[in-house]
Amino acid sequence: MDRFQLYIDGAFEDGAARFPSIDPATGTPWADMPEARAAEVDRAVSAAERAFRTGAWPKMTASQRGKLLLKLADLVQAAAPELARLETRDTGKIIRETTAQIAYVAEYYRYYAGIADKIEGAHLPIDKPDMEVWTRREPVGVVAAIVPWNSQLFLSAVKLGPALAAGCTVVLKASEDGPAPLLHFARLVHEAGFPAGVVNILTGFGPTCGHVLTTHPRVAHIAFTGGPATARAVVRNSADNLASTSLELGGKSPFIVFADADLDSAANAQVSGIFAATGQSCVAGSRLLVEASVKDAFLARLKAKAEAIRIAAPDDMATEVGPLCTARQRDHIAATIAASVAKGAKIVTGGAAIDGPGFYFPPTILDCSDAPDAPALSEEFFGPVLSVTPFTTEEEALEKANDTAYGLASGVFTQSLTRAHRMIRGLRAGVVWVNTYRAVSPIAPFGGHGLSGHGREGGMAAALDYTTTKTVWLRT
Ligand code: NAD
Repeated sequence: MDRFQLYIDGAFEDGAARFPSIDPATGTPWADMPEARAAEVDRAVSAAERAFRTGAWPKMTASQRGKLLLKLADLVQAAAPELARLETRDTGKIIRETTAQIAYVAEYYRYYAGIADKIEGAHLPIDKPDMEVWTRREPVGVVAAIVPWNSQLFLSAVKLGPALAAGCTVVLKASEDGPAPLLHFARLVHEAGFPAGVVNILTGFGPTCGHVLTTHPRVAHIAFTGGPATARAVVRNSADNLASTSLELGGKSPFIVFADADLDSAANAQVSGIFAATGQSCVAGSRLLVEASVKDAFLARLKAKAEAIRIAAPDDMATEVGPLCTARQRDHIAATIAASVAKGAKIVTGGAAIDGPGFYFPPTILDCSDAPDAPALSEEFFGPVLSVTPFTTEEEALEKANDTAYGLASGVFTQSLTRAHRMIRGLRAGVVWVNTYRAVSPIAPFGGHGLSGHGREGGMAAALDYTTTKTVWLRT
């Protein structure tokens, strides 16, 4: 079995205990993982705090930090095949997607390398002739970064990149499900030459690792991606210490198709919008709202495309949908579909887990036209399940789109420019994609409202979130 280690204070170690990681394609253990518990978390936070205050890191100029991030980007790019192989093996995400995603993980590190020496304070024109007043942007301190199992390399890059550019130090907790790619990434951090303690990488379980990290008195900021229930625990944990938080949580994103849309293009976007990453994506366009006059035509296209999807082993470049990450996830999806069918939802295609080894679930479409109370319309599946409801007017589309406790992403398909603008104004979501879906860039902020969390990742603003402002008054 492959064997992985924790990375604390510039050294690799085995952890308090070991646990097996399960290959989602076969349901059998394939790797031996280290578990961090209270003592390891405490040592990692102490190392991060030491590195923040003393040694080489605080003496580095911003452009020197940028150069280290550039080196890391190059190492990620060079290691892309191995990182992709590990992420595919450990999480079941298909190799075509992990390969593509790691290419832009390197781009995120490059972008934040360029940001490092552009974090500026300001000179303030105070109304006193004998005073010079200005602000300095200083790093907040030790950052706890916590990620879920899906896209761990990407979800950590959007935290580490801006945090390190700003001059913070980081304790990164990989998910206990599929931590291999981040534990391998630790080797690249080491090779890049970051001073010991600047980046520490752990894995472990929520109650014994995540809890200790988020209650730690020396953590200044918690950057969390995961589900809303865990986020509530994290915010409660942060209260004693009054650490700041940024929360990237789930979604139940509306994908709105008007009758005047290019239906072929919308159907392609909808299929990848919900079935990519086997639906385990926070921005999954999981609620299709389709204008009633084109519902049948559009559903026919979707059904044909969904049934043509190649479901196979995730390490095959030709595979389009692979297994879910865990058996727990598969069972949650099956139970939510059953509860929705009991409320009147009709299965258009898919609907039941695939027998055999591995955690496979087929692309599924649920027609919820006569099931307004189906949990499929309100609860996040985090799987390959699309719920469909029709609408007849633009107002109804907007009302249904916003009828959710989440507010992460949204998609609008129409040829009408004026309608697109009205929808952009009305949608309660952190991202609106018009005639496209799922586009991302390091330059573009990303985040949500409501149960989807708060704070933004991407862009300059994310780097500023890892800084605090110091105001200086100098009598001349
Ligand atoms: P989760 O909330 O169960 O776990 C996320 C992380 O939190 C894991 O590393 C876990 O070990 C840790 N954790 C668990 N209990 C903890 C505690 N008490 N204190 C501190 N840490 C704790 O999430 P999940 O089920 O692994 O991931 C799926 C969720 O993540 C979905 O809701 C999905 O939408 C969301 N997500 C959001 C985004 C985004 O950018 N908005 C991206 C990907 C996933």
